[in-house]
Amino acid sequence: MHAQPNDLVIAGARVFDGTSDHAPQQQAIWVSGDRIRRVGPVDEVLREASAADPRIIDAPDATVLPGLINMHVHLDLALPGDLARVAMLSDPELALHMAEEARLTLLAGVTTVRLTGTYGHLDFALRNSIESGRTLGPRIRTAGQLVCSTGGHGWQRSREADGPAGFASAVREQIKHGADFIKLAVSGGMAGEHEKVTTSQLRDDELDAVLEVAHAWGRKVTAHAGPAGPTVEAVRRGLDCVEHGYELTDELCRLMVERDVTYVPTITVTRCREFFQRHNMPVWMQDRALAWGDRHWESLENAVRHGVTIALGSDMPPHAEFDGTSATVRELEFMVEAGMTPHAALVAATSAGARWLDMDGEIGCVREGALADLVLVAGDPLRDISAMRDLRMVVKGGRTVLDRRTR
Ligand SMILES: [Zn+2]
Repeated sequence: MHAQPNDLVIAGARVFDGTSDHAPQQQAIWVSGDRIRRVGPVDEVLREASAADPRIIDAPDATVLPGLINMHVHLDLALPGDLARVAMLSDPELALHMAEEARLTLLAGVTTVRLTGTYGHLDFALRNSIESGRTLGPRIRTAGQLVCSTGGHGWQRSREADGPAGFASAVREQIKHGADFIKLAVSGGMAGEHEKVTTSQLRDDELDAVLEVAHAWGRKVTAHAGPAGPTVEAVRRGLDCVEHGYELTDELCRLMVERDVTYVPTITVTRCREFFQRHNMPVWMQDRALAWGDRHWESLENAVRHGVTIALGSDMPPHAEFDGTSATVRELEFMVEAGMTPHAALVAATSAGARWLDMDGEIGCVREGALADLVLVAGDPLRDISAMRDLRMVVKGGRTVLDRRTR
């Protein structure tokens, strides 16, 4: 167990609070225990905090932001190529592998992850261990296993089901083990050689069964969703979030806005030739992913134009090296390249995820009373998103887990 950290004041920085497009300068943030006690002008906060004898960190020319929330993560990622070795690990070995991935994810500034499908219920053990302070890692919200049809997308490491009764039971099983939400595959994807991205994989009655059971238990449902057809159908029937969305048409975007459905583009997955090559991905998978690149990019542009709520997700390991930074920060840069303002991209990486997770006001914000999950970067990412590359400090629940201000 970790001892309660000393009070901490980060003084002199610019503060992005997770929503506002105005980031006031010369602010101070007083962290007491695991929460933010006070945010305000430096002099005032230092005076109020003095009795607590806090550790004071001077951070001029820096920006404090909420810890990042990565909404599409697999800590047990096992793709063909080098990463296939993960699929050969025994369960105890895989649990240790995931713990290390969790630690690296946190050190990359990602203080919360939403796990969108994990093998063998190991996610629950990891989540509980991190929550109790025995393992270093981000806060975890998890779907348990991905639920798919027999032979459906990702079946090798997922919970297969067939028919409404089968799907209802697969969903109940995830909830029984502790799922915070449900992840479903409604179409094929990049990593399945036997399927096409456009293959529709669920019948309407199966989809209805999933949505009915999950919603009755107060769990949202998100879906791995490639082509427009099955995605429109799923959104119409009550889906809460679209992953990837390789083919977001105008109709689909409008429907998502109308129903307040969030989009997690994971745009890096169709722009990662180097990552694929470095990890010896088979050529068929590289070709397929890159062939969808233009259409996927248009989908993101379309979603931005229509004002669809967008949340950041990387699919790739959040800390994975990508164009000289992490996959998470690269995803932010791609979002801006596709037409989002830096402010909108930072909202997508913080408060938008918190809202979907029903953790508004707890995480994804720099606000009095919220959990003290913070990152400090040099420069001003609201002006230039690439400032996010220069990560100086990570605080999770009031505990400083990374400090390289003197680098
Ligand atoms: Zn995924």
